[in-house]
Amino acid sequence: AKERGRNNWQMYSEDLTHQAVERLKLENDIRKGLERGEFVLHYQPIVDTADSRIVGVEALLRWQHPERGLLEPSAFIPVAEESGLIIPLGHRALDAACAQGAAWQRAGIAPARIAVNLSGSQLRMPDFTHGLMALLAHHGLDAGRLVLELTEGLVMDGDPAIAAELHRLRAAGVHFALDDFGIGYSSIAHLKRLPIGSLKIDRSFVHGLFDNPNDAGITTAILAMARHLGLDVVAEGVETAAERDFLREAGCRTMQGYLFSPPRPAAEMETLLRDALRE
Ligand code: C2E
Ligand code: CA
Ligand code: CA
Ligand code: CA
Repeated sequence: AKERGRNNWQMYSEDLTHQAVERLKLENDIRKGLERGEFVLHYQPIVDTADSRIVGVEALLRWQHPERGLLEPSAFIPVAEESGLIIPLGHRALDAACAQGAAWQRAGIAPARIAVNLSGSQLRMPDFTHGLMALLAHHGLDAGRLVLELTEGLVMDGDPAIAAELHRLRAAGVHFALDDFGIGYSSIAHLKRLPIGSLKIDRSFVHGLFDNPNDAGITTAILAMARHLGLDVVAEGVETAAERDFLREAGCRTMQGYLFSPPRPAAEMETLLRDALRE
């Protein structure tokens, strides 16, 4: 038994070593990928279902990995968050989205809003507001076109420095959306204190609409609350016409999901934006 125990322990420790080595390798690869410009943005339309207009796009990071192909954020964001690499990576995303938004603005095809996901560590960087304003000016993107998507954890921690930062950015024209709404502990008191203009209903609720009575109930309650607080709502992850119809019945007009379009490379998104104007 003693020997088995020792073997198990050995296997366990080898496994941990293996994991640590893999993690370090991934960290290094992210660093190299940043230097080589392997991170790109895809864009997913946000649609007003009343008239099918594209009212916004969400920028989503992809990694064009030299060996592994196109990787989604789940393959690198967690390690980027833990290692602090999310700061340069997030900056790259903001920079690319502002450049793209400004180019679309000059071409007269920009959607009203361009949403970018923001990590808490980015917002906690000293001088984030100043840096972002400089970035907008550098690219020539109107601040009022930019939406920063924040997660509940960040917003709910009640840090007055964060709240002050959000108010400064809002005064400069930037909009805020609360992402993945409903899965954490959002307090309405906080929502009222912060300059948040919209909520994004987490896609897990949308998927459960017809299987889980709780999900339908929560979704309806979120929509009612948002109406009372004067907040816009975007439903995420809408995949079927039945989900769209349920949400519209419940009073939600603005949606995002595979039913409308998957996230697309910038050039494809641009074609969509031009086609929409021609109609
Ligand atoms: P998110 O902000 O909740 O983004 C929405 C995710 O839902 C995207 O996953 C999108 O591809 C996916 N999605 C869209 N429509 C549907 C649908 O109809 N069904 C389903 N099942 N999924 C749908 P993606 O691109 O894999 O991104 C995952 C997460 O990575 C994002 O979740 C966001 O939290 C994070 N992320 C992406 N880009 C950035 C970034 O630039 N900075 C930071 N900090 N996080 C990012
Ligand atoms: Ca995905
Ligand atoms: Ca988001
Ligand atoms: Ca989300």
